[in-house]
Parts: sequence; C-alpha cells; structure tokens
Amino acid sequence: MHNHDHHDHDHDHDHDHTPITETDEPLTEARVLEQALRELLDEKGVITAAQIARQIDIQDSKTPALGAKVVAKAWTDPQFKQRLLKDPLKAINEDFGLQISTPLELVVLENTADVHNVVVCTLCSCYPRMLLGIPPAWYKSTDYRSRVVVEPRAVLKEFGVELSEQMQVRVSDSTADIRYLVLPMRPPGTENMTLDELEALVTRDTMIGTAVPVLE
Ligand code: FE
Repeated sequence: MHNHDHHDHDHDHDHDHTPITETDEPLTEARVLEQALRELLDEKGVITAAQIARQIDIQDSKTPALGAKVVAKAWTDPQFKQRLLKDPLKAINEDFGLQISTPLELVVLENTADVHNVVVCTLCSCYPRMLLGIPPAWYKSTDYRSRVVVEPRAVLKEFGVELSEQMQVRVSDSTADIRYLVLPMRPPGTENMTLDELEALVTRDTMIGTAVPVLE
C-alpha cells in the first residue's frame, strides 16, 4: 500500500473489482476487504453486481474522443479556452452539456512555444479517465513512470517528440487528488480545418504530452 488514495477508483486495479477477471495475483488485504465490502453491499441491496458491472462498462467505454473535442474547441474558441484553463470541468460540462462530477481536481496544462508539458503518475497510474478513458499500458509501466521525471527529453525522443533546446519541458506528476490534461499546441496550417478535422489531430498521446499533433 502507498499513501496514494484513489477517490474515484481511477487506477489500474479496477479489474480486481469483479471475480470474472480475477488474476493469479496473491490476495492482498486490500483485495480481501474490497471483495468483502462488495459482497456485503450486494447482499444488503445497496449496490448490485449489475450496477458495479455497469460502472466498469461505462469507464471502459470511455475514449480519448471527449478530450479531443475539448482541445479542438479550445483551439477555435479563445473564450472557451480561457474558461477551460480557469475551471476545466465547469467549462467542459457547460459547453458539452455534460455532468461529469468528481472530487478530483482537473488541471489543464497549456503547451506553448516555450513550454512542453508531459504527464505521469510516478506512484501508480492516475490518469484523467473522465476525458481520456483507459490509460495505455506504457503509461502504467515502471519504465515510463520512473524515467520520464528524470530524463523527460530522452523519453520524449523515444516517443518521436524532439524538442528544441530552448523549449522548457515540464513534467506534472498526478497526485491522489489531481488529474492533468495537456492542451497541445494547434499545428500551423490548420487554419481552415473544421472542428472534426481538428479533433482527428488530437490523439490520446498529444493530451498526455508524449506526442504533438501533426498534419498527415
Ligand atoms: Fe496513480
């Protein structure tokens, strides 16, 4: 165990919550407690196995598409961008007619000509699932988590992102209460693109900071 509470189950142990996908991992104290609690809640009719399965389904069905819509809108609507940077969830909920609620703080990190942001969770795998869905496997890897904070430029280079010497690289380490979303820079030559076309440029990794949007 570590001191890294997850208030939204936003971590890579969600699969432990259902017996269907139980692994061969040793039964830890936390897992025994979780299983006992889940069975008790089911038994008492507080929350059913079906409701738990439904929530897992909802979580697993999320994709980076919502994040891409948010970024594309921020690129084309300066007023929205200001509100997004100031109060991300409020701006997103208002403009996309959503009701995302979470005790977590969402912070949007804007890439500029001078600063490139990249996001990690050094302790486990905290990730802005409300916007990007399931984190990629490499995001949870020990290699990425340990190296990106020490040598971000080298790691980014391995992802194919080469930054100039003048560019400052800022690594943001997710905590128990904060999730980060990178707002990538809009590439030049996209002035006449539609929102749909812009969204297509905004891949998952561009919102983690391990890629930059490029024109095909
Ligand atoms: Fe984490």
